[in-house]
Amino acid sequence: MKQFINKRNGGHIIIVGCGRLGANLANTLSDEEKSIVIIDKNKDSFCKLAPSFGGIILVGDATEISVLNEAEIEKATAVISVTNNDNTNIMVAQLAKELFQIGQVVARLYDPERECIYREFDIDTICPAVLSTKEIDKLLDASQEMEDAG
Ligand code: AMP
Repeated sequence: MKQFINKRNGGHIIIVGCGRLGANLANTLSDEEKSIVIIDKNKDSFCKLAPSFGGIILVGDATEISVLNEAEIEKATAVISVTNNDNTNIMVAQLAKELFQIGQVVARLYDPERECIYREFDIDTICPAVLSTKEIDKLLDASQEMEDAG
């Protein structure tokens, strides 16, 4: 089921997974006037989108090629897979890169040890555990510097 809200001109960005991260990203990119198609297998997930969201929502399992075709993946400039399942994100990212030759593909990865799989396929990864570790380390360093200074 595809629900048309508003389609802006030019290539679009596909976001897979309308959870906390996907919805936030979709709202932000839509506010920046980017053309967005967001896919989620659960129609209730779209309630996280802001009323101002101006893209297309598509209910379906993004590991199915028919769903990606419905999202007009062949015209996409980027595919970002941020479901809560690493295997799904790997599969969607590989399909986008290998089958549809999408230039920019980003995938969320919970398990940092699987990053090598993505690197092999030239897929950018966002790993919450690694990002959080870096940020906490930075906070600890900043706090230590303040203590040392005064
Ligand atoms: P969150 O854990 O809050 O980031 O949410 C992840 C989202 O990904 C949920 O809304 C799920 O319904 C969605 N999701 C999980 N697997 C798939 C899939 N195969 N295709 C589309 N959406 C999915």
